[in-house]
Amino acid sequence: MSILIALAASAPASARTGGASVAVPAVKSFKCGTGETTRCPRGSVLRLSGVHLGATSTVIFLGKRGKSDDRRARPQTASPHRVIVEVPQRAYSGRLRVITDDMSATSPRLRVLPKPVPPPIAASGPLGGAFPIRGAHDYGTAINAFGGGRDHQGQDVLADCATPLVAAVAGTVTLTKFQARAGNYVVIKADDGTSQAYMHMLKPAIVKKGDRVASGQPLGDVGQTGRASACHLHFELWTAPGWYEGGAPVDPLPMLKALDAMPT
Ligand SMILES: [Zn+2]
Repeated sequence: MSILIALAASAPASARTGGASVAVPAVKSFKCGTGETTRCPRGSVLRLSGVHLGATSTVIFLGKRGKSDDRRARPQTASPHRVIVEVPQRAYSGRLRVITDDMSATSPRLRVLPKPVPPPIAASGPLGGAFPIRGAHDYGTAINAFGGGRDHQGQDVLADCATPLVAAVAGTVTLTKFQARAGNYVVIKADDGTSQAYMHMLKPAIVKKGDRVASGQPLGDVGQTGRASACHLHFELWTAPGWYEGGAPVDPLPMLKALDAMPT
């Protein structure tokens, strides 16, 4: 082991030992499936970037000191500059060790987060939830789906401009704003800590930050403000503790479809 450390210290890219060329692996950075680079939830896909990683057979999530909390994972793919691995369900925060044929490399520290739990589908009924668009609509194509292309964090629901928008789930308005990409948007936090975001609204929301809203309460109208090529609602659903407050976006389509199927 001490020889490997000496090699790694003196020659990070490669070294010669007794005439054989030895590629010393190194892990330089992470990218989690959530887009973050220093932390990643259990069960998410994690990309390790570095050099000489092609022969990686195992990634050990070291956790704290000692072996009892070590968790081993087999990479899904390994190439010279990247390894893709799923964060094990019982992994803990700490450094990772990458094992190649006969060497290893220790990564920077990764913060391991609990697995996000998708919120339960809103209970049906007049108080439990409402489909957010009051009018004809459709769910578009794959590009409109959660995850469809370019880190799409929500589901688009296409509808004519000026179709009324209502709150899907009761809660408190935590934000109303205009932003270059989102256009006019509003964020509502439900009592269970999950949040919903409604984007590209025709005009600023008719509710204000701090307002208490019931499900089915009007918020404004469908529009195409911000970066949008057609009138639609971009709807996001985030796990507790909410939208950019430590929660994570989850696919809202099951919830939308459940609300869509409810009699109005
Ligand atoms: Zn969208």
